[in-house]
Amino acid sequence: MSIFAWIETFEGKASPTSWEALGAAKSLATSLNTDVTAVILGQGATDIASEAGAYGADNALVCDDTTLEPYRLEPYAALLSQLVSEHNPKAVVAVASTSGRELLASSAADTNSGMIGDVTELSIDGDDLIAVRPAYAGKVTSTVKASGATTFVTLRGRAFPTPEKGTGTATVTQVSPVLAADDITTQIESLESESESVSLTDAAIVISAGRGMANNPNAAPADAADATVWKAQDGFANVIQPLADTLGAAVGASRAAVDAGYIPYEHQIGQTGKVVNPDLYIAAGISGAIQHQAGMRGSKVIVAVNKDAEAPIFKLARYGVVEDLYDFLPALTAELKKR
Ligand code: FAD
Repeated sequence: MSIFAWIETFEGKASPTSWEALGAAKSLATSLNTDVTAVILGQGATDIASEAGAYGADNALVCDDTTLEPYRLEPYAALLSQLVSEHNPKAVVAVASTSGRELLASSAADTNSGMIGDVTELSIDGDDLIAVRPAYAGKVTSTVKASGATTFVTLRGRAFPTPEKGTGTATVTQVSPVLAADDITTQIESLESESESVSLTDAAIVISAGRGMANNPNAAPADAADATVWKAQDGFANVIQPLADTLGAAVGASRAAVDAGYIPYEHQIGQTGKVVNPDLYIAAGISGAIQHQAGMRGSKVIVAVNKDAEAPIFKLARYGVVEDLYDFLPALTAELKKR
């Protein structure tokens, strides 16, 4: 009756937020007086198992087979479901990344188990698993009790602390893939992201911008004889990105900015975009619609920059700046660069 933690890997490295899942699994295991098993699949899995030991895993089930690279749901779910059927863990925990959500949901269905998604607190009461998760776009939180044999749980990124890295080692068991290469029908064509240098869901600081990027009071009118046509995309490149680079932040956006084509969808924060949980969230030129809040209201400190003092984002913000973002943000970047 171990606790499983799925360690997500990409190009031979563990995703940093996977260690949060391992830490949460360790807390459950301690309450149940049992051990934690890291499930590590894909390229570099054996090396990552040593790291998992240092972060607190007692055991590691490892499969470094080429059929598991890159990540695809079919071979991963087949193998995870088999491991769950063989070991009957009390819980399978992973971060609620895109892959974590689909893998755990699929494997929960395969093994006829329960599933709780996007959890922000996790504990044990007797034999039951108690999970707290946001509902209705973050307006309320619900507490869910799971008493099944195995429960699959995805955790909101950065809602749980990363455990201290120690000197522990995990007992490693090599396992074999379930599907042969010929049985895997999904082919992946991978496209490099052009701009993102800091992952949004892992980022400690996120700077997001919205439709307000279209209103640059300092831009020359488009019909001026010598003006090159000014676009909101230039605002992302020349105002938001330099501030992000200065702070080591990731760049997010509202859906309005994405729909208008200022920035690609992968940057969208909100109900139909990514959910982020950074230490600092700066919202510039974003009104704060409920659907946007669904993706960022868990941020620890929120700073809003908006020229409309009545914008709803100010109700959520710890610090509010009623200013034109095109005046305030470059001045902030310049000031931060001096430090
Ligand atoms: P606006 O609401 O137009 O706000 C722009 C703000 O910029 C205003 O407050 C204005 O005062 C300010 N401003 C303008 N110029 C400047 C300037 N120069 N300097 C400073 N401030 C300035 N939205 C999301 O963000 N994410 C989602 O995932 C999402 N999912 C949705 C799902 C559904 C089913 C639906 C119906 C909607 C969804 N939306 C989502 C859309 C959401 O309802 C809002 O329309 C959207 O968030 C508004 O984006 P915005 O704040 O950038 O634009």
